[in-house]
Amino acid sequence: MADRQPTSSPASRANRTRALEIALSDENLIPENYVEKYTQIAEHEWDAKNGAMVVAEAWVDPDFHERLRTNATAACAELGFPGPQGEYIVALENTPTLHNVIVCTLCSCTAWPVLGLPPDWYKSFEYRARVVRESRTVLREMGLYLPDEIEIRVWDTTAETRYMVLPCRPKGTEGWAKEALAQLITQDVLIGVALPVI
Ligand code: FE
Repeated sequence: MADRQPTSSPASRANRTRALEIALSDENLIPENYVEKYTQIAEHEWDAKNGAMVVAEAWVDPDFHERLRTNATAACAELGFPGPQGEYIVALENTPTLHNVIVCTLCSCTAWPVLGLPPDWYKSFEYRARVVRESRTVLREMGLYLPDEIEIRVWDTTAETRYMVLPCRPKGTEGWAKEALAQLITQDVLIGVALPVI
């Protein structure tokens, strides 16, 4: 039997991206340098370090903490982190008996200005399906063991509402500077699949 070879294979992601860019440009559907500008912003400005600063500020400033709880969009902008996909941010506050975790079951939404673009695993079908049905197991597989007495609440983010997790401040960090506290906050912590560890 003769080998059956595919007559064509999908173009590389880079080539498909370039083709789409050319098609949009030819139709005057994107302003000049639009893609370059957003590539720069995505690489240099949308970063979980921003969310880390937001959490650290909330840990040291009770007034900011309250503003973050009541209007996270404004609170994040106050620290210099506004922007697209951050127009409606909701901070989900953990407590000693409640743990929040974020997913986008539809695709891959995150609050770009404070979480950065989503990691690959966040976009996987497996995470998106399983964290909803068996969150405790999925978190354990990702290295986060939560005892049964801690309730886990899974939040399905959407194009309109973007979440960030506000974790509990770890014991033993009393008196720490904001910058040191922020070092404890990773993108995984802001999504809710990890806890800050000192
Ligand atoms: Fe999405």
